[in-house]
Amino acid sequence: MSRQDHGLWVGRSYLHFLLPVPTLSAVEIDLLDRAIGAADGWTPAAVTDSGPVLSRAWETPAKAELRLAVLSWYPAFVTLGPPGRSGRAARSARERVAELVLSQGGFLVGDPELARVHERLADRWARAVALQREIDELEFALEQRQCVQCGSAAARRAAHCPTCRRRFTGAEDVASDDQHRGVEAALHDRVAQLTALARGEGIFAQWPAAAAGSRPGASADGGPGAGAGAGGAADAASAAPDRPVPRVVPHR
Ligand SMILES: [Zn+2]
Repeated sequence: MSRQDHGLWVGRSYLHFLLPVPTLSAVEIDLLDRAIGAADGWTPAAVTDSGPVLSRAWETPAKAELRLAVLSWYPAFVTLGPPGRSGRAARSARERVAELVLSQGGFLVGDPELARVHERLADRWARAVALQREIDELEFALEQRQCVQCGSAAARRAAHCPTCRRRFTGAEDVASDDQHRGVEAALHDRVAQLTALARGEGIFAQWPAAAAGSRPGASADGGPGAGAGAGGAADAASAAPDRPVPRVVPHR
């Protein structure tokens, strides 16, 4: 009934979907638990819940099983299906999840589109990591100024350099304010780009709906993330102001 194709489970028993969030957090997992558990006595099987969710399993007293695997982040790309034969309980749970996905502004991905979607998502995680790193640096720079005499960093509003005690001049204060505005603008731009990645903008023309959840600050731009390096920690805490987003730490 099912086969594994390019590492992706395909076949009628599987449901693939995108959600307009960076990763699966406790919020989405709770929704999934409730949708799946709404009938047939489904409960989560032994699962670990620290950090971003990569997989989850559910079972019924009659030993039906469902498994979920997160295929990609920014946005969350997920596959759900039974590890073995599909029965009525699994099919019915899958239908409830499909309804949930649509109600959450998600997108159901058919088998024929699977490889293409996977390909399009391939570099988004690395872009998100690079953007997050830039955001961290910009946030740090936002409240800093530099002493022209000794090169030490000081708090942006400091009157004296903490190292050489030189007093900052009025002209330097003006320059520091200019720099602050520049950093602030760059920060807003990178946050908008990260928000667009997290929402899944730029994968399909018709998804996500622009008005969905009416998130302020979401940008249709979705330009390429600057910077090469990957690795390090990333989070999207500032990317979706209307809901908590977990800090995402890549596995090393
Ligand atoms: Zn100094």
